[in-house]
Amino acid sequence: MPVDGAGVRSGTAFANRGSAVRIVLGRAVTERQLADDWIVVHELVHLAFPSVATEHHWIEEGLATYVESIARAQAGHLSAEQVWAEFVGFMPKGLPGANDQGLDHTPTWGRTYWGGAMFCLLADVQIRERTNNRLGLQDGLRAIVAAGGNMEADWPLERALRVADTAIESPALETLYDQMKATPVAVDLPQLWRRLGVEPRAMGCCWMTPRRLRRCAARSRLRRATVAETVAFRHPGLPSAAALTPTPLPEGEGLISS
Ligand SMILES: [Zn+2]
Repeated sequence: MPVDGAGVRSGTAFANRGSAVRIVLGRAVTERQLADDWIVVHELVHLAFPSVATEHHWIEEGLATYVESIARAQAGHLSAEQVWAEFVGFMPKGLPGANDQGLDHTPTWGRTYWGGAMFCLLADVQIRERTNNRLGLQDGLRAIVAAGGNMEADWPLERALRVADTAIESPALETLYDQMKATPVAVDLPQLWRRLGVEPRAMGCCWMTPRRLRRCAARSRLRRATVAETVAFRHPGLPSAAALTPTPLPEGEGLISS
């Protein structure tokens, strides 16, 4: 839908009579703006997952948020550093706040988009760890599409997770969903970044030390594969410093805790 002005303004994916994406596009849009755009990719990702009940909206938006980054990195439109910078900066917005009742029952913006993306990231890391990087979340998502699970199909969420778990050869998604659906699960993001070799640092336009990153990559097959296959810097602005403040977490070694 053309409008005055420049840039990709907004997008909507819907599946009433066949899947479709409506993009509001400025008539003066530049090639650069199109190359940097994340909205079209986000909306297209929505087409590749079944429609689920309203309380599971977080998985639809979380997948679109997470996969959009990865897809653009895989296509060479974003660097791994940009993707990790985005994740480090924005993933804390997906952490549960006061009165949170789990992903299915807390339809706030942060929990819907970034809580959902955090679910995807945790699942991806778990799958890669369990299979020594042989499989990732992408393999599960492809299996869902292969089984007919696109936006035109109404599926119970459990069905989608089961199909994906069969493909990735472990109940990672179903287990994670059981943990997070009705319980506020605190995720130790700083620990996760350390484990993956991602070092947040507020300097210039990048939150990581490239040299340190390369050194870690040489040691960590997991992180190397994850970096190679992930990730997006969706917002032209920098994540706020507040977004990088580690969230206070309960004591313990575990990555996630209720
Ligand atoms: Zn969306």
